[in-house]
Amino acid sequence: MFTKNNVTIGLEWRFGPSWPGQRCFAKTRRGSKCQRPANKRNGRCRLHGGASTGAKTLEGRERISQTNMRHGKYTKDKLEKQRMNAAKGREIRRELRQMERDLIDGALLDKRWRDSFLL
Ligand SMILES: [Zn+2]
Repeated sequence: MFTKNNVTIGLEWRFGPSWPGQRCFAKTRRGSKCQRPANKRNGRCRLHGGASTGAKTLEGRERISQTNMRHGKYTKDKLEKQRMNAAKGREIRRELRQMERDLIDGALLDKRWRDSFLL
């Protein structure tokens, strides 16, 4: 707030030169110190506070995770379940191959038994 030619402009609650609070004092592009009032948290104004470093609490991280999750197909437990199912399938196919080999070796199954199913 200042007076010029008998006219007072500006609002009283704005942060004039006599404002007693803490200033940002970051280096501006002009080379001067930033005069905006500082946040109590980091001592810089909202323009010079820097980027957010993300949620710190477990609750906050969980909330972000829930917000970003689309369908849950690739969550850790689903991927682990897929891997377990794939391993089970490999084991079953291995056992079937072994059984087929045993039956062919025991002459209980023709070596070309699959051909009878071809159209
Ligand atoms: Zn600033």
